[in-house]
Amino acid sequence: MVRHSLPAGSRAAGEPPFWRTGEVIRWQERAPDWQPGRPWSVTPVRVVRDDAEGLVVWLAPGTPRLVPVLPGGVDPRSLPLDRLFRSPREQARVSWRGPGVLMIAPTGTPWSVWLFRSESGSFRGWYVNLEEAHRRDAAGTWTCDHELDVWIEPDGAARLKDEIELAAAADAGRFTAEETEVIRARADAARKAYAAGHWAFARTWTVWRPDPQWTVPAL
Ligand code: MG
Repeated sequence: MVRHSLPAGSRAAGEPPFWRTGEVIRWQERAPDWQPGRPWSVTPVRVVRDDAEGLVVWLAPGTPRLVPVLPGGVDPRSLPLDRLFRSPREQARVSWRGPGVLMIAPTGTPWSVWLFRSESGSFRGWYVNLEEAHRRDAAGTWTCDHELDVWIEPDGAARLKDEIELAAAADAGRFTAEETEVIRARADAARKAYAAGHWAFARTWTVWRPDPQWTVPAL
């Protein structure tokens, strides 16, 4: 169990009512130590599939989003690591740059899979984002990021990403030592799920294309 900030009024994913294909919902993420008044990230996405197994959405190129940044709109990744998780944030409006991303949140799993592609549309790999299992409200889905990620190449070669950021977050008090262990174990479990042929990593998703009629969602 890892501390999280999922909204108290939210409901479990994987149970009806489900969203319909083409509907625009919000993918929202807050830090585990989020408190009222602090910013979080809001990304409008279009539903590809939503059922008991999980939620699949499309993040279109150029989608307007809200993300926490440093005062003055500075990207937090420009900070030294020892300050990264200690500096206050404010919310900024940005646009998703680069090719669109298919995002898959299997029901009840503490990770989601983001399928990255090149400008030409070819599949580049699976970014497995360690995070709290999603919950939802009427407007969208909620999760809580755990810093650590797994990158899996199209040929199956996998490596951990952002181990240093996870350690810095723990140093800053965002995760306890026990929580850090749980998160690392979940990364192993995600890699095993890939190796075992979990549906989120099915080849069909790597060649999936969005409906050409779909417009870029508004914020
Ligand atoms: Mg992450």
